[in-house]
Amino acid sequence: MSDSKKPVAEKPVTKKNRPAKKKPVVSLKKRQSQRRDFIRSSLLAVGFVSLSLAGLLPVVQGRSARLRPPGALKTTLDEQEFFAACIKCGQCVQVCPVNAIKLADLDEGVGIGVPYIDAREQACDFSCDGLQCVLACPTGALTHDLDYPADTRMGFARMDNPKTCLAAKGQGFKGQVRGPDFKGLLRYDEIDRWNPIAVADHPYDLELCDLCVRQCPIEIRIAQCAAQEEERAAAKQAGKQAGKLARVAEQHGNECPPKHAIKLQAIKGDDGLNRMLPVILDGCVGCGVCEMICPVEESPSIVVDIDKITDWT
Ligand code: SF4
Ligand code: SF4
Ligand code: SF4
Repeated sequence: MSDSKKPVAEKPVTKKNRPAKKKPVVSLKKRQSQRRDFIRSSLLAVGFVSLSLAGLLPVVQGRSARLRPPGALKTTLDEQEFFAACIKCGQCVQVCPVNAIKLADLDEGVGIGVPYIDAREQACDFSCDGLQCVLACPTGALTHDLDYPADTRMGFARMDNPKTCLAAKGQGFKGQVRGPDFKGLLRYDEIDRWNPIAVADHPYDLELCDLCVRQCPIEIRIAQCAAQEEERAAAKQAGKQAGKLARVAEQHGNECPPKHAIKLQAIKGDDGLNRMLPVILDGCVGCGVCEMICPVEESPSIVVDIDKITDWT
């Protein structure tokens, strides 16, 4: 056998002589798709950070970001004290009979878990009577210095779009405010003093819309005070015993009557006719019921400003 025909012994493969791995050939189409995926994930990341910052910035700057429950330890321009005192326990959420209080979600930055009220969806109508959220708050983040709804300062109502106001157009309202699917609740004393019902279950038939005035809890309280005053005067005239008089007087408390919050005022309409327009008064506590009940669907004619209160200094 010649040398050329001898089998050549194969060299063992070592690190040194191992052939270099060929890079898999990536098609142009695949590379473009990978680039698109990368850009998409980058944009998503930027979007998420921006969203967080959107919630975070007002907090960092100390500004109010949301309508807060009654008694929140804040001024109109600074919520830092409230954020520091609130332990996000949700006790206020539990006790509210109309489920007005929500805990803020992820996009609130460091405000996550802090209670707020979305007045258009469900305002605080004080149907709990005794400011239950304030009483339930274990830290005083909702200050215990409040005695009555009229003492609260959540914000201040404002006519946002007088041109769409039904009263200003001389129009009434008939039917279910905010439609049959609206989940908002209100206490209607004449129906059930103790249990709020769905607004959708209480249709109206009004010649002239005055819903923001007639459902304002402060205005309702003023009417109750007037009724109590009449009862008191009648009891006195009838010479009823001192005990009864004292009980009626006690019901008055020092908040009865509170200052007026809102009224309809005569104006000259665009058409030159005499019209009525809601006007916000000093007694407004910013509870948001007017914003919730306003039947103008696209955007309510009346809203609550969170950076203003009646006696802001
Ligand atoms: S005051 Fe009463 S109705 Fe209003 S948010 Fe607090 S618990 Fe709810
Ligand atoms: S509830 Fe709305 S539409 Fe009706 S009077 Fe008040 S602001 Fe105008
Ligand atoms: S006028 Fe003020 S107090 Fe009355 S419902 Fe509106 S926000 Fe509440």
